[in-house]
Formats: sequence, C-alpha cells, structure tokens
Amino acid sequence: MRRAVFPGSFDPITLGHYDIIERGLTLFDEIILAIGINADKKYMFSLEERTRFMKEAFKNEPRIKVMTYKGLTVDFCRTQNAQFILRGLRNPGDFEFEKAIAHTNRKMSEIETVFLLTSSGKSYISSSIVRDVIRHGGDYTGLVPDTVRVNK
Ligand code: ADP
Repeated sequence: MRRAVFPGSFDPITLGHYDIIERGLTLFDEIILAIGINADKKYMFSLEERTRFMKEAFKNEPRIKVMTYKGLTVDFCRTQNAQFILRGLRNPGDFEFEKAIAHTNRKMSEIETVFLLTSSGKSYISSSIVRDVIRHGGDYTGLVPDTVRVNK
C-alpha cells in the first residue's frame, strides 16, 4: 500500500491543491490530506471550516482522508504508516523553499518527498490570493472547489 501525506494549511483548499491531489491519486493508493496546526499562525478559516471544505470536496473518493496534525510532518507520516510526502511546485520560489524542507525531512527520516508540477493554468492560484479576493469582496468561485463558500 503506497500511502502519501499531503501536508498544508489549506486556508482554504484551492483548485491548485485539488489538481495536485487528483493527480497524486494516480501514483498512490491513499492520500492523507493533513492540515497542520500551527498555534502561531492566523488563519482566515477555522480548522473546522477547512476540514469540512476538504472532506466535502472528496466525499466520493474513499482513497482520500482528511486529518489534522501537530508537530513534525515526518512524525505524523510515521504514525500513519505513510512512506511519502506529496507537495506541489508552482515556481522557482516554491522549489527553493520545498527543497530545503525535503532535504531536512530526508535527513530526519526515510520518508521520500514527491513533487508534482502544477498544471498550466493553475500555477497562479494560491490560498493567499484567494484570501485577498475574499477580503475585498471579489469573485473567488473560479479559484476553489465548490465546497468552499464564504458566508461572512
Ligand atoms: P503551506 O502553508 O504548507 O505552504 P499550502 O496549503 O499553502 O500550505 O500549500 C500546500 C502545498 O500545496 C504546497 O506544496 C504548495 O506548493 C502546494 N500548492 C499550493 N497551491 C498550488 C498550486 N496552485 N499548484 C500546485 N501546488 C500548489
């Protein structure tokens, strides 16, 4: 069983994440979408909202699980018997950032990080841009799965 953890903040999940997850399902038997809990970070959506958006988006896909975790991603992978971390790459900035994390994780564990390049047309989407659009009352619906809706 090839099991991967896709860690992130998912504040909120976007069509960029969705694309990486769908394509990841061709490589792995199971993917755990793991929402990292960081007490120092301010989020737009609560943990409950972020979890619900993600669970609903994949409610018809039994090979996707949504979980939350605290602490090191590699420790969480071990508790879940996951051999892989899945991450997406949009641009050289992502690459530099992700490279350092992947090397560090590899130093601490035997877990491999697998990167998928964003599909063309999705590379500009980020949770922070979605949050900006929402904050300023713009139409965010083309950037996120239908399950992400704001009633604020
Ligand atoms: P983090 O806070 O860990 O950066 P995010 O939720 O912002 O968490 O992102 C999680 C993962 O999704 C990262 O690997 C990021 O590169 C990837 N990702 C985000 N947006 C896109 C996108 N548009 N295309 C491909 N990968 C993406």
